[in-house]
Amino acid sequence: MTDTSMATGTGTEPTGFDEIDILWISEGMSCDGDTVSITAATQPSIEDVVLGLIPGLPKVRLHNKVLSPTLGGEEFLAPYRAAARGELSPFILVIEGSIPNENINGDGYWTSFGNDPETGEPVTLNTWIDRLAPHAWAVVAVGTCAAYGGIHAMAGNPTGCMGLVDYLGADYRSTGALPVVNIPGCPVHPDNFMESLTWLLFHAAGKAPPPPLDEMFRPQWLFGKTVHEGCDRAAYYEQGDFAKDYNSPKCQVKIGCWGPVVNCDVPKRGWMNGVGGCPNVGGVCIGCTMPGFPDKFMPFMDMAPGASLSSLAIKPYGAVIRRLRGITNRTVNREPKWRHDKELLTTGFDPRWRP
Ligand code: SF4
Ligand code: SF4
Ligand code: SF4
Repeated sequence: MTDTSMATGTGTEPTGFDEIDILWISEGMSCDGDTVSITAATQPSIEDVVLGLIPGLPKVRLHNKVLSPTLGGEEFLAPYRAAARGELSPFILVIEGSIPNENINGDGYWTSFGNDPETGEPVTLNTWIDRLAPHAWAVVAVGTCAAYGGIHAMAGNPTGCMGLVDYLGADYRSTGALPVVNIPGCPVHPDNFMESLTWLLFHAAGKAPPPPLDEMFRPQWLFGKTVHEGCDRAAYYEQGDFAKDYNSPKCQVKIGCWGPVVNCDVPKRGWMNGVGGCPNVGGVCIGCTMPGFPDKFMPFMDMAPGASLSSLAIKPYGAVIRRLRGITNRTVNREPKWRHDKELLTTGFDPRWRP
């Protein structure tokens, strides 16, 4: 872990910027899945932000090796080197992937980004964070790996992987006086990231307050509700009607869904352009946005320990309620008696008044 006093910014840099650079490094222990995910965003799209199509945002220069139009090499690294020397300001540092501990790398290194021009040796991610975080106007951890360690930090963890807050310290503040902004998800939800980035950019332009974060440094408005609270299948849960396998539209709590205790807006928001969202389309929630992911949710597909008790408790209530609602449902599927003396629907396709 780095010396946090060294990495802490001044917190005094004003807002009201016309231009800003986004320096994105996906050389954490990463699969680049978060970069790929954001290309699907629509609220707003990354293209809209980069092309300056959103009124009020500063002009954005995005540096991301996967999305870069440059050929890479020194041309691509130039803004990162300038920022590390304190010659590029303001910039938002985005880290993708978990942060390994280079203090336990033996004779090699875990992950690097470019080489040192003088020694020719790889520059580790740890070194880049140490050099860039003190100058960054804001720092964003994209995806659960960067936010909390994620898959690479699961039990065993030979690389000593951790999230960015663990690396920089919870008291880290950027030059814009912001803590690390965590936007978890494996991968990150495209619109969750772009919406948070857009809020940060409006704040950078001096047109919005800082984004509100919860105690886990997540955007409050995105992670304040559980999966269960936005799930299309929630009515089945309430009626104690549970799926026994994956070919069912019913609640999946007995086949491994952790939705009742997981903070995530994906079922409500959909995955891409409002469509999809894990349990809505048949996938159990495995808690991929959570600090406890993956260890606390494994083995995936097994019923969560608390779910057996809660589903047992709701079963008798659900059975009675389902029966009573069935009776009421049949009743309201009939026309009122005063309209005619028949049970069958008579206001259908062939009205009797037609000549
Ligand atoms: Fe890949 Fe998931 Fe880690 Fe993102 S959070 S780098 S998608 S493994
Ligand atoms: Fe809740 Fe999961 Fe059931 Fe949806 S499928 S209602 S999130 S337990
Ligand atoms: Fe991850 Fe669950 Fe959200 Fe799906 S619903 S994105 S598995 S936390």
